[in-house]
Parts: sequence; C-alpha cells; structure tokens
Amino acid sequence: MKLYNTLSKKIEEFVPHEEGKVKMYTCGPTVYHFAHIGNLRTYIFEDILEKTLEYIGYDVKRVMNITDVGHMTSDSDSGEDKMLKGAEREHKTVYEIADFYTKAFMSDIQKLNIKKPEIIEKASDHIDVYIEMIETLLKKGYAYEASSNIYFDVTKIPNYYELSGKKSEDLLVGVRDDVEEDKAKRNPADFGLWFTTSKFENQVMRWDSPWGVGYPGWHIECSGISYRYLGEYLDIHCGGVDNIFPHHTNEIAQSESFVGHKWCNYWCHGEHLNDSSGKMSKSKGEFLTLSLLESKGYDPIIYRLFCLNSHYRSQLVFSYESLDATKNAYQKLLSKIKSMKEQPDGQLEMNVIEQYQNQFKEALENDLNTANAITTLYDVLKSDCTNATKLYLIESFDMVLSLNLLKEDVIDATLESYIEEMIQKRNEAKKNKDYTLADQIRNELLEKNIELKDTREGTTYVIK
Ligand code: AMP
Ligand code: ZN
Repeated sequence: MKLYNTLSKKIEEFVPHEEGKVKMYTCGPTVYHFAHIGNLRTYIFEDILEKTLEYIGYDVKRVMNITDVGHMTSDSDSGEDKMLKGAEREHKTVYEIADFYTKAFMSDIQKLNIKKPEIIEKASDHIDVYIEMIETLLKKGYAYEASSNIYFDVTKIPNYYELSGKKSEDLLVGVRDDVEEDKAKRNPADFGLWFTTSKFENQVMRWDSPWGVGYPGWHIECSGISYRYLGEYLDIHCGGVDNIFPHHTNEIAQSESFVGHKWCNYWCHGEHLNDSSGKMSKSKGEFLTLSLLESKGYDPIIYRLFCLNSHYRSQLVFSYESLDATKNAYQKLLSKIKSMKEQPDGQLEMNVIEQYQNQFKEALENDLNTANAITTLYDVLKSDCTNATKLYLIESFDMVLSLNLLKEDVIDATLESYIEEMIQKRNEAKKNKDYTLADQIRNELLEKNIELKDTREGTTYVIK
C-alpha cells in the first residue's frame, strides 16, 4: 500500500508498527453546527482509507474524537468560542448543542455509508488524561505556566515545523498580528495546553485541575484520546489539510514530548472541497449540508460518488452541474446492475475475478486512486464476463466503495453452489488426509473473502 505522507512530502510504502494491524486516528467534528459537505469529504476519504486497508487484509483500529469543548479555530485566533456561539444562536446550553450536532453528524456519516469508527469519544470525557499529559510535559520542561495558563514551549522542539513545511518567520508574522495574543507567553508561537483565564466570556465547560478551574487547549484533546485508546504508537493520523498547521503540528509536539519517541509514522491529509466562491463556509452564502442536498433530491450516495471520482489530494469544486452529472452516471450504473441481477447466470470465473480484484486493489493501493478503482468497476461491466462473475466483483468492490450497488444481500445461487462445491472438495481432501490441498482450498476462499467455519454440524461459511 502506497500513501502520500505529509511528514516526508513523499509517497511511501505503508508499513505499520505491528504486522497486519493498523492504528488509525482521525480528527472528528466540532459539534457546534451541522457538518458542511466539505467536512464530509474528509470523512469519506478516511472511510475509503480504512476500508482499503481492511480489503487488503489489515485489521484496523480507528479512533475519532468529538470536539465538544469550546475552542477558537486556533490559539492565535481572535474569534469567538464556536460552541458558545452555537448555544447563543439557538438559545440552548453548550451541552444541548453538542448533543444535537453529534447526533446530526452520526446521521450524516450513516447516510454516506461511512463506517462508524470503532471508538468515538467526546473530548469532554477525557479531562483526566489531558491533565496527566500536561503534568508530564511540565515536569519534562516542555510546558510552562504564564498568566495562570499552561503553554507549550515550541522552541523545545527542533523540528517543530517539519509537518507543515513552513518557516517559523512566516508564521510569526501571522501570530504577531493577533491582538488577543497572551503577552505572557515566552514565544509568540507557543500554544495553550490548559487555560484558567478564559479568552472567552461565559466559558461554560470548566473542570478542576492542578492549575485551577479551566479547560484544555484544542490540540491536547486528540493527543490525549489517541494515547488513551491507541497507546504510545500510532500508524496513521488523518484530517483535512487545514489541520496540518497548527493542529497536527501541535499534536506531534505534545505527544512526542510526552511519550519520548516518534509517535506517528504516516500523516494523511485530504484536500478541501470548495464552492464557487473559493472556500466552503458555514457562515456565508448557502450553507451546503447533506440535508440540503437531500432536500434537492440527491441521494447522499451521489455525493459520495462525486467525491470518489476525484483524488483525495486534489482540490474539488462543488457545483450542482457536476452533481447532476454524477447523479446521471449513478442511475445508469444502478440500472445496468439491476438488469444483471435479474439474470445472475453463468459460471463464476475465478481467474478473471482475481485479475479484476488485483486491478481494483492496485488502484487503491496507489495512494487511494478511487477514480481508477471506479474505472475498474466500469471495465468489469463492459467486459464479457458472466453476469455471475460481474455481480461477484461488484459486491466485492462495493465493500470499499460503499455505493449501495447491490442493495439487498446478493449471494446468488451460482456463488452458493461454487462455495458448496469447494467445501465438498475440501472434505474429500481431508478424508484423503491431503491437508495441504484442504488448506489451499480454505485460503483460496478466504482470498475471495469467504471464510469457512468447521462446526460439529459440518462446514459453514461467512462472506466478509
Ligand atoms: P471541523 O468540524 O471544523 O473540526 O472539521 C472537520 C474536518 O473537516 C477536519 O478534518 C477538517 O480538516 C475538515 N475540513 C474543513 N473544511 C473542509 C473543506 N472545505 N473540505 C474538506 N475538508 C474540510
Ligand atoms: Zn485532532
């Protein structure tokens, strides 16, 4: 599997810390409003990454946080507390706002066939781990107290700008311009780990800490949740490109100073979806949500396909014209498949299946080339394979693409009889004590995602 790594700025071969297993952390939503479809593009890319890793045989453990503690967009941002702004807008408490928009987020990802990450945790539920980490950072001399707040001293990290590839001079200009900057900080680029003197009026979410009642900085949230659920080593960390600086830069600084070694090897970032004005925004123009698209008659899966047609590292411009083109293509695709399902005849051609599966895998293993993966799907449809073979492949590809290509569970009769035949062959091999052949048959099926299970009643199977 080859992935572009923002850390090295190169496409690299992916090698996890533990063979066959992937620990993956994906930054979650700030739940002060609905997600816009730009945010959702990032979650679709992460979903494809997770499913590709699973498709090629990895066991993936994925964690996501829900940012429910109020934060400004960055520590050097002079804006308002997003959560509080949401609460004021809707005359609700910040807790009600967080709860409502978390549910809205879950509903959006479900509609887009995004697999719910194995672990989803609220930032406000892990204050103890942030405190533990901050105490260690203070002890190790990476953090300091100023004006009753705790800051991270970025000058302690020689390669602080490695991920962003920025120059410290460039960044300091932006920081210096900020009138809200805490004058007590040692360096303008230092960022907050714990605030007791709120930059926000009426900060509602507050917790006790060794440094007084306050609330954590934004970045420590992800470092803390990742450490709690995935431990000291992480394989892949994802987010949108806007997360590279300062968020992920600061996560690296904190986590590596805390654990005392390199923390995460692969940093993968999705490019933005823009609207015609240049930037997707929740405040100006039409606020593009998934529900808005639905209200205009677009199945959410059309938006998923729209995203998959382009590479996750290219900027994508949203327009209703392009979405309409995708809608047409999707409808044609479904009707073609539907007619095939009505005649699921012919033999399963296992060699051809393997060849197309390899082509599909190759596309995805090449830094998630989803457009080529979809081309493979079209190649299959255009080919002269039997319908049974085509349906088998469509089902297999849809485990990653998740485009509802075969809405009902399609285990057609042909596939069933193929598996039964293989089970019989394996039973015979076992009877003849030819365990090599028996294992070979089991592995062959496993490669096609069919897992045999030997029970007292006989051999059964599951299609994964
Ligand atoms: P937020 O809810 O603002 O924390 O953002 C959630 C995710 O969406 C993060 O991974 C962001 O990097 C990502 N994101 C923000 N804006 C866009 C955009 N226009 N296109 C794609 N992803 C975005
Ligand atoms: Zn994060």
